[in-house]
This record gives sequence, C-alpha cells and structure tokens, in this order.
Amino acid sequence: MSGERLRITDAAHAAMVAHALAGVPFEACGLFAGSVEDQARGPSVDRFFPMRNTAASSTLYLLDGQEMLEVEGSADEAGAVLVGVMHSHTHTPAYPSPTDVADAARFDPFGVYTYIIVSLEHPDPSLRAYRILDGAITEVSVDVGPVDQALVDEVPVEEALVDVVPVDVEPG
Ligand SMILES: [Zn+2]
Repeated sequence: MSGERLRITDAAHAAMVAHALAGVPFEACGLFAGSVEDQARGPSVDRFFPMRNTAASSTLYLLDGQEMLEVEGSADEAGAVLVGVMHSHTHTPAYPSPTDVADAARFDPFGVYTYIIVSLEHPDPSLRAYRILDGAITEVSVDVGPVDQALVDEVPVEEALVDVVPVDVEPG
C-alpha cells in the first residue's frame, strides 16, 4: 500500500454504495469530485455523480461520453475537480480486474485518477481505492468522514495501533 490516502465524506461514500446496490444485476459506475482547494492536501472526495453503465453488463462498465461532459460541467460549476472513477463488482472482490487495468492504461495513461471499487460480493458492501499506472495497481487508504476532520487527523492508523499491547489468550 502506498502512503497515499483518499479522504471521502460519509455522504459520498453512502451515495457510491447506494448506486452500486441500485445497479444490480449490472455493474454501476460514476465519477467523483472534491473541491479544488481541498486537493492541495491530497485527494479528497465530497461529491459523487452516479452515471449509467452503457455496457449494461455484470462484468464490465462503460461511461457514456456525453454524460461525462455533463458531469465535468457540473463539477466545474461547483468549483470542484473530478478526481476519479467509481464502479462496482457484483460478485468479485473490490480489486481491479485485468479489464480495469487495461481501461486505465487507455483512458488515464498518466495515472491521474483514483479508482474506487465497491464490491457487493458479500452482504456487507466494501469500498476500496487504487491508483493504476503502467499496469501496476497500488491500493490507496480510504478515510471516510468529514473532509475537514480528516484534514486535522494527522495520526496514521498504523502508528496509533503501535501502542496496543496484545492480550494473551489462555488456551482452554
Ligand atoms: Zn472492475
């Protein structure tokens, strides 16, 4: 995992999961954005634009070109910048498929976008984020909560856990 973190609001997180569930049996997709100022501290997401999957498929997704232009316009008007693409996996883990990696190479050759995958494989949906560059997949840690609060949370979870003393469990 890279040191990179993606901050995402509760509302945007909930909207992505809801869109994934609404899209069943097909994969669902959309673009997400954050305010321009917030991006200075690393990628952050406070709005989600649900879009239709023109592939209407349970194994792949395709964004509509015209709808993308409309979403870009809406983001611009709101002073926001698009930071990535979300899609769902209906029966597989939240990890980029070979198709996802190939798509990224074609549409995002410089690895600018963050890719969020919502998996519906288990009853409890899971959301994970990745960077995909030159065929290499790097997971990005996701912090869900108010973007402002995430900004002041300077203690990485891994460090916070260092002081936890393991409890010995007596067998039997
Ligand atoms: Zn996929």
